[in-house]
Amino acid sequence: MYTHHTYKASELLVPIPRFIEDREGFFRLHPRIAIAAEKGFETTHQLALEVFGCKAGGEDILFKFQAGMEQEAYILTISKVQIVIKASTDEGAFRGLGTIRKLALLTGNQLPCCKVEDSPDFVWRGFMIDCSRHQFSIAFLKKLIDIASLFHLNRFHWHLTDDQGWRIPLDGWPKLASIAARRTELQYTDNRTYGRLYSKEEILDLQAYAHARHVLVVPEIETPGHASALLAAYPEFGCTGGPYETQDRWGIFDDVMCAGSNELLEFLSDAITQIAELFSSPYIHIGGDECPHTAWQECPRCQDRMRQLGLTDARFLQSWMTSKVCEMVHKAGKRPIGWDEVLEGTEHLGLPKDLIVMSWRGPEGGLEASKRGHQVIMCPNTAGCYFDYKHADSEEEMGNLGVSTLNQVSHFSCVPDSMQEQAKEQVLGAQGNLWTEQITTSRQAEYLLFPRLMLLAQQVWRPQEAERILAMRPILVQLCEALNLNCYRGE
Ligand SMILES: [Zn+2]
Repeated sequence: MYTHHTYKASELLVPIPRFIEDREGFFRLHPRIAIAAEKGFETTHQLALEVFGCKAGGEDILFKFQAGMEQEAYILTISKVQIVIKASTDEGAFRGLGTIRKLALLTGNQLPCCKVEDSPDFVWRGFMIDCSRHQFSIAFLKKLIDIASLFHLNRFHWHLTDDQGWRIPLDGWPKLASIAARRTELQYTDNRTYGRLYSKEEILDLQAYAHARHVLVVPEIETPGHASALLAAYPEFGCTGGPYETQDRWGIFDDVMCAGSNELLEFLSDAITQIAELFSSPYIHIGGDECPHTAWQECPRCQDRMRQLGLTDARFLQSWMTSKVCEMVHKAGKRPIGWDEVLEGTEHLGLPKDLIVMSWRGPEGGLEASKRGHQVIMCPNTAGCYFDYKHADSEEEMGNLGVSTLNQVSHFSCVPDSMQEQAKEQVLGAQGNLWTEQITTSRQAEYLLFPRLMLLAQQVWRPQEAERILAMRPILVQLCEALNLNCYRGE
């Protein structure tokens, strides 16, 4: 805790606001103060009452409507006697609340007087959690969403299906629960299993929690690769007919969805319709990454499909699948997002123009997609956005496959230097991704996420010099302590 009267608001806030002016004095936040809000700020008002344990009525803290401000913009004034947050939307008011909460956590509720004017540079500020390999509890996901929202993040990309487990409940497909959601744990000899479906109630509950914090929950259904769990349940959707199993090993598997199977297409169409009803997000992520074509080359149904379509290469068949799945997403009234492999093999059939491309294998996918007129979300594993990577290149550190140092994350830019000026407008923002092959507990996830996710939050809210945010590392560690988060404390 910083000693009373020794700190300034400008030294405590991450993301660093667009404008901040320190002023004399302090506002003491305590349970006897009252919080009022003008019309339109009901959701944030209710949250403010909950997080500070205060009552409604008086105007010690006031959320005040101001016309003409941007969607997420807010103006915060903390004086010795009152806190005023002005915004045009509940979302803007909520961002202001996040700033007050951080100051309160860091100062033992002695908030330094200041004026803040703030708004983001990028609309997509996200984090992805893989809940197939390690299935986190809804309670933990809520904790992450709440903390992410404190740092103005607004997208939770929920990776829900993969080789090692399917997590989305769908009516009419009972073997998803009994087979696709469970894997036999090969490390044990007594046939114990891991995993389950999330229930519809849990999914709706999590969305309500996230949306109150202005975080959109974006579901991902992997197609056509990373499908072992689905194929184990419904082997007729694979090229060979199986048998397949929900995997308990890590990697890329040759058995993928059969692109020649009309039954598979019917399943996907039904699945996407149901997912579109269950999730209020306007986006559905359709996967598209790491799909070998080995099985397709041997499969009579896939070969037939290629002949009918006049395709000469299995790469083109994947592009056909992408377009088919995008059609289903459109029909369900949503917009598709895909990993950057969706750009490959598209010479013949092209890609639906509204498909958003997530650039993960480096910035190249984002460069190419933006050149072709697609909107882009950046999460290059080469530039610090993969949080399953180690914090440091050391045997003592946990993590998988690579290294993403705090320094790398701090130097991350949503818009690579090499991107042409007109293409830059296609970049919606960025996100940090946490794959969970090597994660078995929530505490490990926290250690890998923090403080890297906080540094990334700065670069998607309002890019800053890396040195300036790296210098705020002690503040971030202190915030992690206040938030009961396990975090990395090294350089
Ligand atoms: Zn096939």
